[in-house]
Amino acid sequence: MLVDTHAHLNIKAFELDREEVIKRCLENNIWIINIGTNYETSKKAVEIAGKYPEGIFAAIGLHPINIKQNQKSKIKNQNDKSKFKNIENILEEEFSYEGYKELTKSKKVVAVGEIGLDYYWKPKTTKKKELFKQKQKELLLKELKLAEELNLPVIFHCRMAFDDLIDILQGSDPCKLNGVIHCFTGNWKMAKKFLNLGFYLGFNGIIFKLDLDEIIKKTPLDRILIETDCPYLTPPNLGKERNDPLGVKFVAERIAEIKNVGFDKIAEITTENAKRLFKLG
Ligand SMILES: [Zn+2]
Repeated sequence: MLVDTHAHLNIKAFELDREEVIKRCLENNIWIINIGTNYETSKKAVEIAGKYPEGIFAAIGLHPINIKQNQKSKIKNQNDKSKFKNIENILEEEFSYEGYKELTKSKKVVAVGEIGLDYYWKPKTTKKKELFKQKQKELLLKELKLAEELNLPVIFHCRMAFDDLIDILQGSDPCKLNGVIHCFTGNWKMAKKFLNLGFYLGFNGIIFKLDLDEIIKKTPLDRILIETDCPYLTPPNLGKERNDPLGVKFVAERIAEIKNVGFDKIAEITTENAKRLFKLG
């Protein structure tokens, strides 16, 4: 059994064949957590999870690049097709604490996410850039408060902002939060700080593009989560362009290779990790 701890079957890319994809995953013993990036996709993730008696879960949250900005500060990289692109489209939204809280009434909601900081998506001027960062931090604090209030783990999206995220987490003393840094791409020094705070590191198909071997080698196995971030970050062996949760198998295989342990052991421990952190039942 494997758990894809970060999927986006709740977005348009899966509109036409979502049920088939989920059926195939469940037949292959793959459990899935679908991740929200705004209110709409969060709600969708909850709805999808509600249709299945087991194996499909949801996380709810407002992604940092989707926060409402000032009218004129359009994001520069809106049409960027880079491989790192994580979001289908940018939908500006004001965060509603109560609205998101309402969604967590479903027992299928296992985390607040994806939330965090993303400094890759930059407005043009320095002043607007600083304002954007400030807004992201304010949003993050509100979402962390929600996670604390509901006693839910968090799923962090963090891009080019590791120092600021660590500052925020170390600032809340003692840090009562637990969670995962999804799609971890930082260095070992940063990895160690997150691990010391009790966090897990999530790895996906990006490990075929960036050299994260040393980080994976050094990260204790009981702190590793596997994920796909599908439809993005397709592992080269999947044999199709659009990634889906079946791709998590290739991530597990690669981690087994890097750590020089059997595939079964990676499957077993990462599944235990996911079940422990997200209390999947
Ligand atoms: Zn994601």
